[in-house]
Amino acid sequence: MYVLSPSIYAADYMNLKEQMATLERMNVKRLHVDIMDGNFVPNLSFGPDFVKSLREHTNMELDVHLMIGEPIRFIGAFAEAGADILTVHYESCESVQEVLDEIHSCGKKAGIVLKPETGLECLVSDLWERIQVLQFMTVQPGMKGQKFIADTLEKIRAAHSYIKQLERNIDIEVDGDITLTHLTEVLGAGANIVVVGKALFQGILEDNIRNYQLAG
Ligand code: ZN
Repeated sequence: MYVLSPSIYAADYMNLKEQMATLERMNVKRLHVDIMDGNFVPNLSFGPDFVKSLREHTNMELDVHLMIGEPIRFIGAFAEAGADILTVHYESCESVQEVLDEIHSCGKKAGIVLKPETGLECLVSDLWERIQVLQFMTVQPGMKGQKFIADTLEKIRAAHSYIKQLERNIDIEVDGDITLTHLTEVLGAGANIVVVGKALFQGILEDNIRNYQLAG
């Protein structure tokens, strides 16, 4: 069984309350929140106030993906806003280790995100020791409407077998254009948390969630 993590960035913002209620009714336990700064990635999205507002309305686990430069500046704010998990890009931090320690000092789960072109070799043992989640971008981060990059599957497979060797409980999360076809592929490669955006929120949300749940 994998965990479905709908990306609220793809939701219909005018019907957010209703869509959140549908997710909860359909037994979705985790919500993915994409934070973009218009600098590390080209787009802008939400800030800590939005996370705080989500927190006040739901018990779903809030999985906050920080696509921002030097995220250490905002860890405290997002933790206080109610994030449960904070993931940061390896490519965005001067010291990833410091950022992970900061997340843990706020009492939250920490994860590293890798862009499609970033290899696993950047993860030294000090980093593996500090993460609860390893997240793979399967598209370039920060833009809607991109296509799944199949080359990332090999990296996911390699991470999965390395984590087995480590005998650690590290989740493998995938993020970017995970259609139902790609879902089978990423699960086969070893992912256990799957972010889905427009494929859920376009059309009938309830039916789409059911299709993803049945496919897992
Ligand atoms: Zn994301």
